[in-house]
Amino acid sequence: THTRRDNLLSFDKSAELIERNAQWMAGGVNSNFRLNISPTPLVFERGEGPWLYDADGNRLIDYYLGMGPMILGHKPQALVDAVKQEIEKGFLFAGQTAVEAEAARLVCELVPSAERMRFGCSGSEVDQAAIRLARAATGRKKIIKFEGHYHGWFDNVLWSTAPALNAAGPEDAPVPVAGSKGQLEETAETLVVLPWNNLELLTTRLAQGDIAGVIMEAAMCNAGAVHPAPGYLEGVRKACTQYGSILIFDEVITGFRLAAGGAQERFGVTPDLSTFGKAIANGFPVAAIAGRADLMDMFATGGVVHGGTYNAQPIAMAATAATLKSLKPSLYATLEERGGRLMAGFREIFAHAGVTAQVAGFPQIFHVAFGLENPARDYRDLARMDRAAYIAFTTALLRRGVRALERGAWFLSIDHTDSVIDETLLAVEDAVRELTA
Ligand code: PLP
Repeated sequence: THTRRDNLLSFDKSAELIERNAQWMAGGVNSNFRLNISPTPLVFERGEGPWLYDADGNRLIDYYLGMGPMILGHKPQALVDAVKQEIEKGFLFAGQTAVEAEAARLVCELVPSAERMRFGCSGSEVDQAAIRLARAATGRKKIIKFEGHYHGWFDNVLWSTAPALNAAGPEDAPVPVAGSKGQLEETAETLVVLPWNNLELLTTRLAQGDIAGVIMEAAMCNAGAVHPAPGYLEGVRKACTQYGSILIFDEVITGFRLAAGGAQERFGVTPDLSTFGKAIANGFPVAAIAGRADLMDMFATGGVVHGGTYNAQPIAMAATAATLKSLKPSLYATLEERGGRLMAGFREIFAHAGVTAQVAGFPQIFHVAFGLENPARDYRDLARMDRAAYIAFTTALLRRGVRALERGAWFLSIDHTDSVIDETLLAVEDAVRELTA
């Protein structure tokens, strides 16, 4: 039988560099979510298409994809060309450019709810802008967020989040759990944390009439890849309208990935505001907030502040425009087909080996959860997955040249061709064989 166990990859050079670099960068990394990777955080030299090349000279099939952005793969020629052209013109003007207007027009054309938009540099930032706008528009304070939904690392939203991997209190009345030491505890008083996919609980809470906004991942993708229950988003939309609360879809992962118009296009439900990042610029630091013109125009004439030295940086805008122009319907059809094959391949391998696992979500971002008998419906379900076994699996895969997030999410790019998927499935089969031996 096919086995590659004789030539498993090693990551010694990466480990060595991380240790050396820790004298300059805390932990040898620049984001906490790049720490604690088994067997070691990696150091990369370059990326191309579906592949990454690391400091040990390994070629890895990449399913992290920069934590989601690289829907066109690493270093697509269209972006290289656009960026090269723009960089010749200068870097930053603290004024407006043609390329940002083009990118803005494309966002408004693609995203169903985007009557107006603004650019920012990270998902965390634009989520703050959306929350501020919801408060300004309603004159209310409290925001509803959901257990396991991640909206960035700032104090007022890093509660009961995916990376924190914790849940507390009864399922129908979660107690907010801080994600970090040093986080201002009072910010929990500005939040109501609820379980996602439970319309009754949400509607009951909204009816109290004091909620400025509801922020959610329209499909829960940071912690897993969970579909909204049938009718849930429609019900949320209706209840927010009825009780005067602003509905915010955090589409930082789902935007430009689940469809060109994001989850809101895929599910046909229109939020008041939505936020984007990641796939909007295929690897450049760009994010966006978009939505109803009357709300967005509060940034212009309503006394609501949104700033940022690097907002709409022209080179990043060239990358944004080039990315958005590449998002043709055929791209999504291809992702769906190939991702579907990959998911089916996983299920077959797990079934054959007697591994209990759920492979769920969407072909372009799915989640593998070991140890679950049924598909997850919310965060508490996901929290029951066998995390240690899954980390052993991703570690075994890495040694076979496949890099996947330990959290369970698999991102797909258009460069993950059928042959790349075949190679992935061989590695998966071999890794499962090792773990079940
Ligand atoms: N919202 C969601 C759903 C995310 O997945 C993320 C990042 O992982 C963010 C917000 C924060 O975005 P950023 O890391 O760009 O600040």
